[in-house]
Amino acid sequence: MKKIIKLAKHAGFCYGVKRAVETTKKLKSENSDKEIFVLGELIHNSHVINELSQLGIHTVDELPCQNTCCAKICVIRSHGAAPEVFDDARNKGYEIVDLTCLDVKKVQQKAIQLVQEGFLLIIVGKPEHPEVCAIKANAQTHGENVIVAPDVETLKTYEKQIREHKRVGVVVQTTQRIENLKNVVDYLLPVAKELKIFNTICASTSLRQTEAKNLAKESDLMIVVGSRKSANTTHLAEILADITKTVHIETDDELDNYKDLIINAENIGVTAGASTPDSIIHNVIEKLNTKY
Ligand code: SF4
Repeated sequence: MKKIIKLAKHAGFCYGVKRAVETTKKLKSENSDKEIFVLGELIHNSHVINELSQLGIHTVDELPCQNTCCAKICVIRSHGAAPEVFDDARNKGYEIVDLTCLDVKKVQQKAIQLVQEGFLLIIVGKPEHPEVCAIKANAQTHGENVIVAPDVETLKTYEKQIREHKRVGVVVQTTQRIENLKNVVDYLLPVAKELKIFNTICASTSLRQTEAKNLAKESDLMIVVGSRKSANTTHLAEILADITKTVHIETDDELDNYKDLIINAENIGVTAGASTPDSIIHNVIEKLNTKY
């Protein structure tokens, strides 16, 4: 059977991830005399983390204390970080390079604004995700009334607190599904007396999701490429699974697991999360074109 394989236009690195990866590599090449530490994985992709490690860029969960051997740089990744993290880096004598994505900065600013204006802040997102942790930590430096909820079911457990507050404000993790935000808003409308919503899903995520949905409508099979740790990639796979058969793979090595599905599909669409390098997407397309 002749196959048509289409790659979504907005697949792979978004501008925030591209900036983080390129700037970190450039930092190393321009500062060979300094040690470079990235706090947490720069992006959720093990291939990129290995590549950085080979360049001598360290990925750490906590910054080591300075010794006198050489100057050190601390890179803040695109997810952002809590104010205490910046303080710790400064106190330990690190030079800080803040690569927080500008879209994530906007969510942090909106969250702070809501808390300062006296709203009960609701952050729609995964509580353990680094971007959400940083938004929460930044907001809590201005007030304690902050709730993080990944979905409506969780939010319902805070109903008493929501009803008691006259003013409720909402921001959303940049990579969330718009359907999730809609569900939250539908629930809050009759519960909250005053409701202020900032749709902070980033333009890159919206565009990627819309385009992938359109591609899924004309495909028998969608292949989503990217790390299972990546929030935007797993959301993409969830969204597309509602439209057509969808598989989520990390690299082309996993394609054989879905051999029958691939062989029987006539129109295959491929998309990828914001942290998936072009080389990995290219290998998937290449294998689909040549092997099945
Ligand atoms: S997914 Fe959006 S918010 Fe996150 S790094 Fe990319 S552009 Fe920035």
